[in-house]
Order: sequence, then C-alpha cells, then structure tokens
Amino acid sequence: MTQCQLILTPEQAASDSQIQKAVAQQLHLPFGSITAIRIIRRSVDARQRNIKVLLTVEADSDQTSAGEPNSASGPSAPAYRDVHHAARQVIIVGAGPAGLFAALTLLEHGIRPVILERGKPVSDRKRDIAILNRNEGMNPESNYCFGEGGAGTFSDGKLFSRSKKRGNMQRVMELFHYHGAPETVLYETHAHIGSDKLPSIIRNIRETIIEKGGEIHFNTKVTQLLIETSDLSAPDKKSIIRGVSTSDGTRYLGEAVILAIGHSAHDTYRMFAECGVRLETKGFAMGVRVEHPQALVNRLMYHLDGRDTASQQALVSYLGNASYSLVTQVDGRGVYSFCMCPGGHIVPAGSSADGCVVNGMSASHRNSPFANSGIVVEIRPEDLTHDNESGADICSANNDGLAGMYFQEYVERLAKQHGADKDKAPAQRLRDFVEGRPSHDLPPCSYLPGIVPSRLDLWLPPFIGKRLQQGFRDFDCKYHGFLTNDAVILGVESRSSSAVRIPRDKDTLQHTDIEGLYPCGEGAGYAGGITSSALDGINAALAIADR
Ligand SMILES: Cc1cc2nc3c(=O)[nH]c(=O)nc-3n(C[C@H](O)[C@H](O)[C@H](O)COP(=O)(O)OP(=O)(O)OC[C@H]3O[C@@H](n4cnc5c(N)ncnc54)[C@H](O)[C@@H]3O)c2cc1C
Repeated sequence: MTQCQLILTPEQAASDSQIQKAVAQQLHLPFGSITAIRIIRRSVDARQRNIKVLLTVEADSDQTSAGEPNSASGPSAPAYRDVHHAARQVIIVGAGPAGLFAALTLLEHGIRPVILERGKPVSDRKRDIAILNRNEGMNPESNYCFGEGGAGTFSDGKLFSRSKKRGNMQRVMELFHYHGAPETVLYETHAHIGSDKLPSIIRNIRETIIEKGGEIHFNTKVTQLLIETSDLSAPDKKSIIRGVSTSDGTRYLGEAVILAIGHSAHDTYRMFAECGVRLETKGFAMGVRVEHPQALVNRLMYHLDGRDTASQQALVSYLGNASYSLVTQVDGRGVYSFCMCPGGHIVPAGSSADGCVVNGMSASHRNSPFANSGIVVEIRPEDLTHDNESGADICSANNDGLAGMYFQEYVERLAKQHGADKDKAPAQRLRDFVEGRPSHDLPPCSYLPGIVPSRLDLWLPPFIGKRLQQGFRDFDCKYHGFLTNDAVILGVESRSSSAVRIPRDKDTLQHTDIEGLYPCGEGAGYAGGITSSALDGINAALAIADR
C-alpha cells in the first residue's frame, strides 16, 4: 500500500479511471497494475480561476514489494460491550451529538448509559417539523432543536471543525460512517451528510445503544439536578451530583451526569441558575441569514464569467454547487459567514413560540436553487453592558451568567414581532438593507413558513446591524456581485453558538463546583457544531471511564 498526493482538474477528479491513471503515473507503474485505491483526503482549491482538486490516496498494486502491507485498510469497527448488567451507570441529559457519542463511548468501556431526552424519537419529530414548515405552529418540545439527535438531526450535516484534534475527529467520522454515513465523510475536508440522510444514522446509533443494554427515554425533560450539598455558595464545599429528576418526578441515579443539553434549552439554563449552579456569560455571535440564487454563487465562486455555457455546467456538475466562507473586521468585531448551505433551505430553528430564529440546512444532493448562509457579528460579554442604543442594557441586570441568553431572547422577540404571523420571518432585500430603504416586495426564498418585508436595517440593534451593513460591503469588494437585491436576508440568526458557559475543570472535565457533573457539547460552551460536540461527548465519557 503506497500513499501519494495528486493535484487534478475537477474533470479528472470526478473519474475513477482518471484517478487510477494519475496514481499509476505518479508511482511509475503500469495503469493495469493498480488493484485498489482508497481516497484518504479530498479538498477543492477554487481560489483561482484554474480550480484544482487535491487528493491524498492510498493505492495497492499487484507489484507491491514483498513485506509491504497490502490492501488499503479501512477504519476499525468499534468494540461495544454488553452493558445490560454493568455495575456502572451514567446519566446523560440530551440526545444530540454530544450525548449520543458520549453514550457510544461509555459502551466501549462497559458503562451503562441512560439518556434522557425531552423531545421525541426522530420519526415522530419529523411530523412536528413538517407542521412547523407549513407555518401551522411550533411544538416547544419537538422542533429543529429538540428531539432525538438534537440540533444535529435536521441540521445541514456538514462534518468539519476548526479544531486541530484531527486524530479524535477522525474517530467521530468513523463512528458516523459505521452507523450509515457515506464513505466520503472519512476523507472529504468539507464532509457533508445532508438532512435527508441524518435521521437514519441517528436511528442506527439509538439501535446500537439499546441493543448493547443502554437506555434512551424520550419525552423526558430533566427539571432538577440531585445535588447532595445544595448550598453551593458555602466556601470550600464541593457538592456531589447523584442524579437528576424529570418533569414527571421520576429520579434517575448514576455515578455521574453528563449534561449535553445543547444551547437552546433556555428553561434548563434558568433552572440551573435558580438552583445555584455556576454559569458564565461567554462571547457568541448574532446576525441574519442571507440567501442568494445558487447560480449567482456558483458564478462568483467558480469564476464562471467568460466560460461558455457547456463548460460552466460541466464545472458545476464535477464540483457540486459552490459554497463560500467570508470574514471581515468591522469596528473591532469579526463579521463572518457561518454554516453556509449551498443548494439548501432556510429553516425555522427556534424552540419557543415567542421568538423567531433562522438557520440553514441542505439535503445530501444540495440541489435547491438557493444558497444560504448565516452572516453574523461577534458579540463579546462587554457589548451587553456598554451599548445602551442596542437595547442590550436589558441584559445586564442579573449577574447569573445568562446575560447573553437574555439578549438572544430579546432580539428573537423583536424578530417575531416583525415577522407577524406564527413562524413567518422578517426579511429585506440585501441591497435595501445595506442602503437603508424598505423592500416593497421580496425575491423567491426557500424558507417554507413564509417571509414578510421588514426594516431589519431599523430594528436590529445598531451595533449588530451597522456592522452587518459594512460587512456586506466588504464581502462585495471581494466577490463583486455578492451585494445584490436578488439576495434576501432573514432575521435572526441568533443561535450560531452558545451564549452561556457551564464552567468545568480543564483536566477532569467536571463542573468546577460539582463533582460528577460533566457539562459538555455546545450547550456547555465547549464546542460548536456536530463534530466538535460529538468529540466533546466522547471526551466526557473517557474522563468518566478513567475516574
Ligand atoms: C438547522 C441547523 C443546521 C445546522 N447545521 C450544522 C452543520 O451543517 N454542521 C454542524 O457542525 N453543525 C450544524 N448545526 C449545529 C449542530 O446541530 C449543533 O452544534 C450540535 O447539534 C450540538 O450538539 P449537542 O449535542 O451539544 O447539542 P444539541 O444537538 O442541541 O442536543 C441537545 C439535546 O438536549 C436535549 N435537552 C435539552 N434540555 C434538556 C432537558 N432539560 N432534558 C432532557 N433533554 C434536554 C435537547 O432536546 C436536544 O435534543 C446546525 C444546527 C441547526 C439548528
């Protein structure tokens, strides 16, 4: 088995035989002698007009020298133990990526996971999401955030992370693959599953957990932590968690509790604050979701101008619909694109009926005519106390670590008021927003509950709105044509990351004040996105296994 790096044209990279030919050439072997090829990394470099596809491949040939291992090796299958009668039991709150991957890891260590999930199993959840998409109302316990698989189930399913811990990250990809994700997740730099494929993968993970002796309880909301010393303010007193109780009064006990609640369970954060669990305000980001015609994004990102129609179509067919990643600085804060979904849809991603929150997703083929992305402004905790113009002063009254969350709720309510009917979202044409004028009509948009014209330029807190306006001008300098009235913005993209941190010890991963409590995943403020949340869940489980 030999490894080699290839730099190919998009056309070559789309053909197995062309890849085989390139491998043979590079290894100075006859074409027919290559017996197996495994791609272990693939990325696209579209910065220049001359687009390249970079591949790292492992190849076998019938001329492999003696002693060299043959046959390109795949990932090893996980070794789950039967935990029906295990002596050790751990409670996991939340069945998102963090909770599910924590459970899988506990199984590998012979520890019994008991998952408590406030939402429904994925098939029932689908029905609630269909109702929501028809603008017939949101179920506050079953929506794009809550239910089996968490926010990850009907997400876009982009599986990449800025984290450098590639070794473990690869394990996350292997476990997704083992449970049904396509092989591409093992090697694509920007791997993508798609919201049509994720539910069955999540179901497969559930089946593994149950088959091996773990438990998953749906419609089971945790409403209390069972902490042995409730006086958390007493000096030097370390409290110990024994378990949790749920809305129907049932108590679940375990040697540890993994808190994997995601960042949208505002009622659960409030419960923590009320019972004295220390929380901290952390930086987060907020903005809008912008949607362009996909054809326009393809033209800008793949440098299609000046090519004939046939070669434009060929390029898009080899590479798929184009995405982008944009970043600028405005008045000391980052303004950047987030969770870009080529060929996707904008979705109502809130969890309460009194706020309007949007996010984006795409199916595995990424073939809708729209390209959407969050465009968000970095918000630091100090921004929530200084800027009176922003309305943010409403957040600074309590010192409970929830200032950012109150601010999210405040802006989400504003968006709701301007969206008018149920889950319709307030929207404005992009150039109108940047130039501060109303949109009398709106372009076609993928957001199913519907959109209504609104002056986002007037009602968004100015420290966000003005930075967004400048950010869009900056992006247009880089990609001329990005700032267009053919694009529309929807409000608000307020849940791109958690506004709360549940503090934990960096070595033991336990809450700094409560022994046995393991805050993890996005809601604890230590991860952002599917893969890093899953990885954080794995790490919490490993820390428990090592106790
Ligand atoms: C539309 C959309 C698209 C996205 N696209 C991507 C993407 O392409 N790539 C990417 O990396 N990320 C994406 N994300 C973000 C990603 O889904 C999250 O970062 C990830 O799911 C966080 O994982 P988690 O396990 O920490 O929390 P979550 O997935 O939020 O799971 C938390 C779970 O805890 C449950 N819970 C909360 N409180 C309680 C309680 N009191 N009792 C019991 N259960 C409780 C919730 O119901 C939920 O199921 C997207 C999110 C959305 C909404």
